[in-house]
Amino acid sequence: CGIVGYVGQNNAKDILLEGLKRLEYRGYDSAGIAIRNADGIQMTKVKGRVAELENRLQPNMVGTLGIGHTRWATHGEPSIINAHPHFSQNGRFCMVHNGVIENYSQLKNEYLSGTSLISKTDTEIIVQLMEKMYEKLNDVEEAFRETMRLLNGSYAIAMIDAEDMSNLYVSKNKSPLLIGVGDGFHVVTSDAIATIKETNRYVDIQDKEIAFISSDRVAIKKLNGESIERTGFEVELDS
Ligand code: GLU
Repeated sequence: CGIVGYVGQNNAKDILLEGLKRLEYRGYDSAGIAIRNADGIQMTKVKGRVAELENRLQPNMVGTLGIGHTRWATHGEPSIINAHPHFSQNGRFCMVHNGVIENYSQLKNEYLSGTSLISKTDTEIIVQLMEKMYEKLNDVEEAFRETMRLLNGSYAIAMIDAEDMSNLYVSKNKSPLLIGVGDGFHVVTSDAIATIKETNRYVDIQDKEIAFISSDRVAIKKLNGESIERTGFEVELDS
C-alpha cells in the first residue's frame, strides 16, 4: 500500500500513475487517483492493478494538483467503493490514507451519527470528521489539525479540497511519508523510489506532524499548531 501526491505546474496524473506503479512492491488490492482541476475533483478507482487504473482514466483528466493510493484492505473488503480516495459527504474534501485508525468506531459513534457513510473503511471516518470539524471551525488548516488530533493508530494521509486549487494537506503517524521538493512543485510519497524521477530532494515529516503544501511552500506544524523548521536531504537512488 502507498500514497502519492503532487502539486505544481505539470499534469499530476502522469506523475501519480508512475508513482503508484513504483509503489506496487508494497502490495495492494485496489488503486485510485483524484485530480483537482477547473471543474472540481475528478476521481477514478479500481479493484485490481495500477495498469487497470491507467486503462480506465479519462484522457481529459488534467490538473496540476492530485493524490493517488494503492490500498491493502484492513477495514472493508477490496472493492471499488472501499478503494481510496474517499470523499466527505458534501463532496468537498477528498482523502487517501495508509494505516489503521484504532478508534474509528468510537469516533463514528461520537461525531458521525447523522452522516450516511458510503464505504466500510476506517478512512472514510477521517474525511467525514474533517467535514464536521470544518463546519465548526470554518478554517481548513485548523479543521485538518483538529481532525488529526482525534485519531489513534497509524496513518499517512493526504487530502485535497474541491474549493482550493493550490494546496495539499498531509499528516502522518507510524506510517511512512516524505515530501519531495522540486523547482516549482512538491510531491508527497510513501517512499522516495516512487518520485525519484521528479526530484532527489526530500524533507521528512515526523509522527504527529502535519504539513500544508503548495507548489512553492511547505509549512510543517505540530498538532498543537506550533511551526517546525526542518532542512531537507538528498536521496541517492537511480531513477
Ligand atoms: N485502513 C484503510 C483501509 O482499509 C487503509 C488501508 C491501507 O493502508 O491501504 O482502507
